[in-house]
Amino acid sequence: MKNIVLFGPPGAGKGTQAEKLIAKYGLDHVSTGDVIRAEIKSGSELGKLVKSYTDKGELVPDQVVIDIIADYVLKHKTGNGNIFDGFPRTTFQAEEFDKILAANGLKVDVMLSLTVPDEELVKRLLLRGKDSGRADDSNEDVIKNRISVYKAQTAVVADYYAAQNKYAEINGVGGIDEIFGRLCEVIDTL
Ligand code: ADP
Repeated sequence: MKNIVLFGPPGAGKGTQAEKLIAKYGLDHVSTGDVIRAEIKSGSELGKLVKSYTDKGELVPDQVVIDIIADYVLKHKTGNGNIFDGFPRTTFQAEEFDKILAANGLKVDVMLSLTVPDEELVKRLLLRGKDSGRADDSNEDVIKNRISVYKAQTAVVADYYAAQNKYAEINGVGGIDEIFGRLCEVIDTL
């Protein structure tokens, strides 16, 4: 069982590549962003709370996503492996994630980090906003705030995995299949 953290700034292509990895390796997948959007859509009290953060491009409180992941891990202890997309996004989340996995006899095998220049990210996200109607992709100020939040709070999570020799950086610019090939090269060494 391989547990893969797919990492990178908003717009780096995590969702696109996750879909291809799931198909090739028969992995299960959780995207905290998807779970959060479903919660918002449901109109629940929790949905209303998290929307007040996502609307501004801020991270939702750590405990909300930690609970989502704890619940997911409990239900996915067996199988070929899992892709964690959009989590962990703070060092605290990474530490709690290790505890959750260890309690279930599991561990992270690798963090695959997609790198893409800022200008390209903004372009991709505005384009996605037009197609998907995602509110946080349609406003350039919100997009820029998400990239700033990534740099201020999330980028350091790479150091956490690098310190454990579990960090691999992947060039996220190029064709979808080209980037996919780069990811597979690393996964095939696990
Ligand atoms: P992005 O394309 O910005 O990476 P996601 O779809 O992963 O977006 O997440 C959308 C929003 O959900 C984020 O901007 C953030 O507010 C919230 N979110 C998702 N994952 C996390 C997390 N691990 N910790 C805190 N907030 C999160």
